[in-house]
Amino acid sequence: MFRIEITHDVDHLGFRDHIADGGLVRFAGLCCIGLARRSLSPREWLRAMFLMSRSALGGRDAWFCVPEWLEREKALGIRSTWFVACRRGRGIAYTPARARQVVDMLKKAGCAIGLHSQCRDDPAGLAVELAEFREVYGIEGPVPLRMHYLAGAGFDPVACSGLFLFDSSILASDRFFGDGDFERPVNIMDGEFVDAVKNRAPAARMMESARLETARIFAEAARQGLGVTVDLHQRSLSPTLPRYREYALWVLEETKRLTR
Ligand SMILES: [Zn+2]
Repeated sequence: MFRIEITHDVDHLGFRDHIADGGLVRFAGLCCIGLARRSLSPREWLRAMFLMSRSALGGRDAWFCVPEWLEREKALGIRSTWFVACRRGRGIAYTPARARQVVDMLKKAGCAIGLHSQCRDDPAGLAVELAEFREVYGIEGPVPLRMHYLAGAGFDPVACSGLFLFDSSILASDRFFGDGDFERPVNIMDGEFVDAVKNRAPAARMMESARLETARIFAEAARQGLGVTVDLHQRSLSPTLPRYREYALWVLEETKRLTR
């Protein structure tokens, strides 16, 4: 049956987690690339720099978007799956203690919680990480799995099939999933379409091709009567990432329109 699964990778929970690891400097650099390539207007660039500074200095953190996601998805009748890490590394800087409060919010809202694994290149460590994840977040039984940075070259989903509910670590725009499939490829990931480093286009052209390509994938899955997986990152509703935000809001509305 055709359906759209909205999922969220939690790679970042806030600007403040990245003061020590240089993440703020990297983000400022990316915004400058966006400005140079005109995917960000000068006004949007200034706003991003202002909100980043204000967040780092202790104001409301402009990368923490969980409450807005929950509110919008509730209004649209969407039930999402969240992939949360329990180990730091490769750009993930939040602590499990901090993420636990977020996981409690998500559980209360009825969302599914999956493991965002750091064991992409360490299949032997996966069962240990899963045990840590269950312990830290108080979750029992098998959970969904998505590798942080998606599947590594040696990653074998079949090897995980006894431990997890399903795997969603392989990027494949045109391979959809059916009822009971263990592998649910990531068909659509926001960064592939609206990241200023991957896409050199100015704002309007970037958004137009993002919408066209996404609509094409949705239409193809509907034609085949199968499920589509969408990955919209936790911070993608942030006003510091205007193209991600614009795209995410459009995807949510399209999901509602196509699956009601
Ligand atoms: Zn990730």
